[in-house]
Parts: sequence; structure tokens; C-alpha cells
Amino acid sequence: MEGIVRNQSLRQLNTFGIDVAAAGYAPFTNVAGLLQLLEHIPPSQLAMVLGGGSNILFTRPVEGYVLHNRIEGIEVVAQDDACVYVRAGAGVVWHHLVAYAVQQGWGGLENLSLIPGSVGAAPIQNIGAYGVELKDVLHSLEALEIATGQVKTFTAAACAFGYRNSYFKQAGKNKYIITSVTCKLQKQPRINTSYGAIAQELQAMGLAQPTIADVSQAVIRIRQSKLPDPAVTGNAGSFFKNPVIPLHKMEQLRQQHPTLPGYPDAHEKIKVPAAWLIEQCGWKGYRRGDAGVHPKQALVLVNYAHATGQEILQLSQDIADSVLQKFGIALEREVNVW
Ligand code: FAD
Ligand code: NAP
Repeated sequence: MEGIVRNQSLRQLNTFGIDVAAAGYAPFTNVAGLLQLLEHIPPSQLAMVLGGGSNILFTRPVEGYVLHNRIEGIEVVAQDDACVYVRAGAGVVWHHLVAYAVQQGWGGLENLSLIPGSVGAAPIQNIGAYGVELKDVLHSLEALEIATGQVKTFTAAACAFGYRNSYFKQAGKNKYIITSVTCKLQKQPRINTSYGAIAQELQAMGLAQPTIADVSQAVIRIRQSKLPDPAVTGNAGSFFKNPVIPLHKMEQLRQQHPTLPGYPDAHEKIKVPAAWLIEQCGWKGYRRGDAGVHPKQALVLVNYAHATGQEILQLSQDIADSVLQKFGIALEREVNVW
């Protein structure tokens, strides 16, 4: 069928820059095109749908088909006195949607500036940064059910969002292809600068009364100063989630490790920065061949040039083992491993 490529290298299609091939590859730019592809590809051979490839580690070749989501388009679908409802195609680059909203002066997405990847993948792990998660702004999404070919609408509640989690990572895993996302944005934005280094950065920029455009710029500046640019050094952002542990365990751990940082979470639990745990185990800046741990952010594993997915996976396992041994905390992967 037209558009299907055999034996396609995925190296340019994943931000880790892992050199594997897919037996079949096909992009789609609308729902009709996607349906046509699904008519030709036996369900057992549909391996995955790919967006920007910024949250995946390939450890082996893909024997089936990779479908590449390229559905474009951003449009206002409704508005009322307080809000604008903006729908974006799942293949839109996430930051392009953020930049569009910021330019219009509509608030809600600015703290999520510069997160790599596509709009369609954002709900999968409920992307989050600087105190905002997609769940705070998502109104609804449309997804094609692979088994029936029907497009269904999911409300935010139906997405069952959690910390880097959603219905689409749990019961709905591999059952749906997200085709569009609608966000509910504020006409009179409420600025949220209380998280991480945003307030400090705004101060350094000399901005006492910041707009959402200023917040977006501050987030961009912090991210560019700390995180490796995947175009230069392969990575998929945070490799592990921040563990959330019971309060009593935190108290026990603090007897041995008094400087252990933690942020209160719901239900008597505490979120511990995984980067701190990894750094304490001596991994920050570590390099083994071309696989490594970023020198400025220990939660980010990197591919300096030609590391294989297996080498990065092995490094991640060694890191998780040492954190478990030293702190008794089991790190959970955030990155999807193929
Ligand atoms: P992909 O890697 O292409 O896919 C990820 C998963 O989603 C795969 O399992 C894929 O099959 C599935 N998927 C993709 N598209 C669809 C679809 N349309 N329908 C159904 N399933 C689909 N994440 C954060 O949450 N916060 C951050 O601050 C953040 N910072 C990052 C910084 C860097 C430098 C990098 C490299 C990554 C960062 N990430 C962050 C992780 C990543 O950007 C997000 O998870 C992003 O949403 C992934 O989008 P993608 O299109 O690249 O997904
Ligand atoms: P940071 O600001 O140095 O903070 C370290 C960790 O502490 C973060 O993981 C964050 O948890 C937590 N934290 C900081 N301030 C907090 C607060 N006021 N309340 C609750 N928790 C707080 O982190 P960073 O590495 O520079 O990242 C900045 C933001 O970008 C974070 O939100 C991070 O999640 C996000 N980010 C995500 C990825 C990814 O791939 N997932 C990659 C890079 C950056 P949270 O992670 O839960 O926010």
C-alpha cells in the first residue's frame, strides 16, 4: 500500500537516537488515512503508534508496523466568558500548541513549555512540569479504538489521570490511538510561579509582574540550562518517576539520611526526587561507553553517540539496583521500553 515503507530506520524518530529498524513504517495525517492503514495491516502486526519518540527506548528491532502520527491542525472549537476550548491534532508538536496559546494570551499551558513530543502522546503519561499537569487543562480527547475503528470521545475523568499515568497506560494500553486533544484555556490567566526555580528565574529576568509569556520564557530558559537537547545528546527526559513513599518510611529514612528531600503528596505520602537518590549513589555524570547519566540532571540517561538500547537499559537497571540497596526504594521507569 502507498505510504508504507519496509525496513525503516527509526534512528531519526526517537530522541535517544537508538539505531533500530521497523519491518514496516507508515505515517498518517488524518483519521481516514489511519483507518485505511488499519484495514491493510493485520492487528497482530501493528506494533505501535509513534509521536515524537521522546519517551521511548528501543532495545530491539520492531518486527511489526510503526504508525507515525502526523495529524496537524489547531482550532478554537468553543468559548465562553472565561474559557477558550482549543482542539489540536495529535501530531501537532506539543510546544507549538503551548506557543500558540501563549501568543493568544490564553493561560494554562505556559508551565508546560518546551516539553518535547506530540500532542497525542501528552495524555498517555499525563505530562507534567513545574506544578502543572495535562490533567489540569485537558477538556477531552478523541481516540480511535483499534478493534472497532470507531472514534470515541474521552472526558478528562474517563482518562483516569494520575502522576505520569492514565487509562491509556493501564486498561486502555495499546487499544486506542489518540487523534486529537481539546484543552480548556483561561482568558484571564492565573500565573503559577511557585514551583521549582520559576520565581527565581523571573527575578533574574527583572520581571516583578510576569505575564504568561514571561513564565513560558522562564521555563524555557531553565530547561535549556539544565536539560540536554536531544538534537545534540540523545535522551528521553526523566528515565524514572519520582517515587512516592509513605510518611513513616520517610521518617525512618531521614534518621539515616537527614538531608533527604521530600514534597508532601496526597494520603500521608511523600514524593522523593529520584534525581537526588541517584546522585547520592554516585551516578551523576557517570559514563559507560556511550551510555551515561547526565552531569546536570541525574534523572536523565543519555546516549552520547552509539549506545544501544540494551546498554542504556542495563545502566538503568544498575542504577535502580543501587538505589534499592542504599534506600530500600524501588524506582519505577517512566520511559516506555520496547
Ligand atoms: P512517543 O515517545 O512517540 O510515544 C510515547 C508512548 O506513547 C509510546 O508508548 C507510544 O506508543 C504512545 N503514543 C504516542 N502517541 C500516541 C497516540 N497518538 N495515541 C496512542 N498512543 C500514543 N515528560 C513530562 O511529562 N514532563 C517533562 O517535563 C518532560 N521533559 C522532557 C524533556 C526532554 C529533554 C525529553 C527528551 C523528554 C521529556 N519528557 C517530559 C518526556 C516526553 O517528552 C513526553 O512523555 C511526551 O509526551 C512524549 O511524546 P512523544 O510524542 O515523543 O511520545
Ligand atoms: P527540580 O525543579 O530540580 O525539582 C526536582 C524534583 O522535585 C522534581 O522532580 C519535582 O517533582 C520536585 N519538586 C520541585 N519543586 C516542587 C514543589 N514545589 N512541589 C512538589 N514537588 C516539587 O526539577 P527539574 O529536574 O529541574 O525539573 C523541573 C520540572 O520539569 C519538574 O516538574 C519535572 O517533573 C519536569 N521535567 C520532567 C521531565 C520528564 O521527562 N518527565 C524531564 C525534565 C523535567 P515533579 O517531577 O513531580 O514535578
